[in-house]
Amino acid sequence: MREPSARTSAEQEPPARAFARAWAHNLHEVCFVPRRLSRTIPLLEDLSLQLAAALGGDRPDPAAGHRAGTAMVEAQLWSPAALRVSVELIHGRLRDDLGVGHPDAAARTGPLLGAFTEAFTEAVRAIALTETDDVRRHERAQAHRAVRRAEHERQHALLHDQISGLPNRHALLEHLGALLAAAPRPGRLGVCVLNLVQFAELTDALGMEQGDALLREVGLRIRDLTVAEGLYAAHLGGDEFVLVRPDTRGIDDVIKMFGLAREALAYPWRPATHPIQLDAKAGLLERRTAGASPGEVLRTAKMALTWAKGDPVTSYAVFEQRRHDADQRRHALSRDLPAALDRGEVHLAYQPIVRLGDRRVVAVEALARWDHPEHGTVGPAEFIPLAERIGLLNRMIDSQLRAAASHARSWQRPGRPVRLHLNLSTAQLSDPALPAIIGAALDATGLPPGLLTFEVTEQAVTDPQPGTATLAAVAALGAGFAVDDFGAGYSNFARLHEVSRAAVTTLKIDRSLLASPDVMLSTLVDLAHGLGLEAVAEGVETQEQATRVQTLDCDAAQGHFFGPPMPPEPLRGLFA
Ligand code: C2E
Ligand code: CA
Ligand code: CA
Repeated sequence: MREPSARTSAEQEPPARAFARAWAHNLHEVCFVPRRLSRTIPLLEDLSLQLAAALGGDRPDPAAGHRAGTAMVEAQLWSPAALRVSVELIHGRLRDDLGVGHPDAAARTGPLLGAFTEAFTEAVRAIALTETDDVRRHERAQAHRAVRRAEHERQHALLHDQISGLPNRHALLEHLGALLAAAPRPGRLGVCVLNLVQFAELTDALGMEQGDALLREVGLRIRDLTVAEGLYAAHLGGDEFVLVRPDTRGIDDVIKMFGLAREALAYPWRPATHPIQLDAKAGLLERRTAGASPGEVLRTAKMALTWAKGDPVTSYAVFEQRRHDADQRRHALSRDLPAALDRGEVHLAYQPIVRLGDRRVVAVEALARWDHPEHGTVGPAEFIPLAERIGLLNRMIDSQLRAAASHARSWQRPGRPVRLHLNLSTAQLSDPALPAIIGAALDATGLPPGLLTFEVTEQAVTDPQPGTATLAAVAALGAGFAVDDFGAGYSNFARLHEVSRAAVTTLKIDRSLLASPDVMLSTLVDLAHGLGLEAVAEGVETQEQATRVQTLDCDAAQGHFFGPPMPPEPLRGLFA
């Protein structure tokens, strides 16, 4: 018996290990193996034992060949030369070297190597595929990156203005939303909506491209501001920009923010042609963050901008809830007015004008009233300007004339004419359609035109404007005129003599003059008389005032003392 210690190292090695060592040597010679030889040997030893077991076992086991082929490729022993070397070695030496004595061993070697080769090539193809997959994965990753970039660009485009590159309306609303959500309660914020002054004119003069360049320039200046002042800026599109400041302490902070923006715009922009001075108007908002939605914040700030733009004097307007409510009411009333006229919600109240000498009613002024189903009685001072704006005044004067004429006819007594006074706004007097409307209504009702007086402002009579032609045409129908609210505005004494040319018969002295010294009142009365006109005192509320205006030589007076505006029925009693 040989002592184990006496053996050489090669002799000491188990046969499978020796076989594996030879196998590994051959493989490392023909194939790049990214691993040290000593680490390949145990792997191959394992495979050798399995293959030997398959050749020498009770039953043939080609699956072992399959497993070995796959294992080779997994160990990156996967070159064609590696396959060839392995097949030669397994075929030529495995049985002998490992002492496989099974009688079928030789016959089993063929199928075993078949399975080995098949598995090997299959595994190599799979790896190749995986490699292509890797390429594909790389491409896919690149494609993903491109998609992500495109998506990012799309998001950027969605959230930024294309010209200025500043955040757009969507981004602003998101920002406001985040600000409102994050703000400590009670927190505040300030918003300034800027609109460039004369931008439309500038782009008309400069052309679209320069207009865009101008917007870019404004964008840059505003962006500088955001960096320097810690503000948030957005471009709503067109020539509207927004600045947002969190944690404001009051409107002064927002006014200051607007001041900064104006300063930033103030230095001239120098495009190719000539330097251009930029300026902006602004709507300002300063409010609590609690209870606000981003949309509402933007809407209200923009509302203030509309106010600023509508005011030729100021450069900014501050949002006020009360003014907003009044706007809302105006909108609602304007919306309701046309249907209200159809439904007869607008009617006339009649106020007597009394001759001071004998206290007889010599005229009646018809004053419009609107019984609004929701808002109650709406006064003419509120809805007449709306009717004017939406072009309803001609309809109104037509229906007023038709409604008042029959009443006016019923007031008449032999030898005691009672005139009907109707108010006309200045705008109506520049409408050439007016005389025809009045003429038709007079014809339809049979009211003698000589009983009709239109009350107009002094300005309407004295200003050289298209209205004078209308005035003359109405006068030609036979109607007379009274100058209303005389002394309340800036009277143009230099042109006042023109009233006599325009069939004016009466000067109504505004009720504010009742508070003036006697000399003022008597001067106006003298002026009226000097021009051949009757003087009527308005707004007489007391016996004392009635006596005073009579003493100062007024011809007639009107006011609550003699009777308030009233429905036609109680008025009838005054003519008995
Ligand atoms: P106005 O023509 O100067 O009418 C007189 C206004 O003074 C009326 O107000 C009348 O109710 C009010 N008044 C009358 N007596 C007194 C008084 O003793 N004390 C005081 N404090 N006020 C008195 P109202 O009815 O609210 O009308 C306001 C203005 O609306 C009118 O001023 C007139 O300019 C205009 N207006 C009224 N109806 C019409 C209309 O049908 N068409 C047009 N275009 N304007 C109208
Ligand atoms: Ca009047
Ligand atoms: Ca008046």
